[in-house]
Amino acid sequence: MKPFFIAILLLNGVRCTPTTVYICNNPGTTRYHLTKNCRALGNCSHRIVSVSLEKAKSMNLTLCKWEK
Ligand SMILES: [Zn+2]
Repeated sequence: MKPFFIAILLLNGVRCTPTTVYICNNPGTTRYHLTKNCRALGNCSHRIVSVSLEKAKSMNLTLCKWEK
C-alpha cells in the first residue's frame, strides 16, 4: 500500500511543480517566479536568471506572492 501512495505523490509533484523557476539575481532576493513575465520581475534591476526549483528552495526562496 505505502509505495503506491508515494508513487501517486511523486507523480502529482512532477505534474504540478515546474522544474525551472526564475529569480532576480539580486543578493537580497527572497522570491522565485514561475514565469519570466511575472510583474514582480518587472521591478528587478538586476539580471533575471533561471534556476531549478530545488536550487531556489535550497536558497530559502519562497514562491512569489503574485503566483500563489
Ligand atoms: Zn513572480
